[in-house]
Amino acid sequence: MPSNPYTMKNKFSLGFFPTPLHKMHNLSRKYQPCELYIKRDDQTGLASGGNKTRKLEYLMAEAVKQGCDTMVTLGAQQSNHCRQTAAACAVAGLECHLIVRGEKPALPDGNLLLSVLLGAKIHYAGSEITDDFVEQVMYVLKSEGKTPYLIPYGGSNITGIFGFVDAMQELRQQLYSLNLDLDYIFFASCSGGTQAGMLLGKELYKIKARLMPVSIQKPEVGFPSLEEFVLELANGAAKSVGIERLFRQSDAELIKGYDEAGYGVVTQNERQAIHELARLEGILLDPVYTARAFYAMTNFLQREIIEPGSKVLFWHTGGLPANFHYGEEIL
Ligand SMILES: *Cc1c(COP(=O)(O)O)cnc(C)c1O
Repeated sequence: MPSNPYTMKNKFSLGFFPTPLHKMHNLSRKYQPCELYIKRDDQTGLASGGNKTRKLEYLMAEAVKQGCDTMVTLGAQQSNHCRQTAAACAVAGLECHLIVRGEKPALPDGNLLLSVLLGAKIHYAGSEITDDFVEQVMYVLKSEGKTPYLIPYGGSNITGIFGFVDAMQELRQQLYSLNLDLDYIFFASCSGGTQAGMLLGKELYKIKARLMPVSIQKPEVGFPSLEEFVLELANGAAKSVGIERLFRQSDAELIKGYDEAGYGVVTQNERQAIHELARLEGILLDPVYTARAFYAMTNFLQREIIEPGSKVLFWHTGGLPANFHYGEEIL
């Protein structure tokens, strides 16, 4: 097996790996003759887990190496990435500043509550997080004598995505030991880092399964498409480790149409997905990302877009705490 050239670089250990991969027996019975498996990145261990733990192991190492003492990142109030960054900072002994959309709520809940408990300082940016607002936070921190490191949305940059290159090596080893060949891998794609890392890792570790990234958020007008950004990340990362082959548009195709309601809006689809997996397998999805991606997968199975008899993996990317914010919307 080829080794990951990037493991030469430092990682800051934050999670428990490999995460479990197991068959979902009841769900497989329901969708037979397909076989359904799940990869448990909801069990990475960092303050209730999630896919950002993998990226943060690289980002945290880079920040420490650069002599930074403060982490700054941004996102929605219910950002799982912000919560995991807060936890990572606690482990590494760095100060954590989170820039979140909206106004300060009377009482923080879900991920925001956990971020506060984990010691993060929260900056409320109002309806939009502007570049000016971010620069202002960075400026104030520097003027206080701190050395801040800015992590982009979702930890999705060329450094962070190597967490998911490693994840594909981890998957390769699990497939060997389970003697399993997968046909499809479904997962939620939003800031693009998970998808870009999987794309490069799939190539490096010769995983045959087709990637089925489900779009969670429609791009805003005037912004580059998620496909373009995924390609930019995957190609940039490939180049940084001396890999010649460059990915093309067709390598980054997304499953669209399940994101129509908008980011963070719970519809009957997400509710159905949460109830189905909870009641058949005792596994909890989150309302924003994994429920949307899981619904898309079951919809593909039902419509037989997935050939009967296929072996299908759902990559659970975490998000549990958001359930405690959404409350009755998911009931
Ligand atoms: C961030 C996140 C995703 C999307 O991952 P990206 O790398 O941003 O595309 C999916 N699921 C959950 C629970 C997340 O928090």
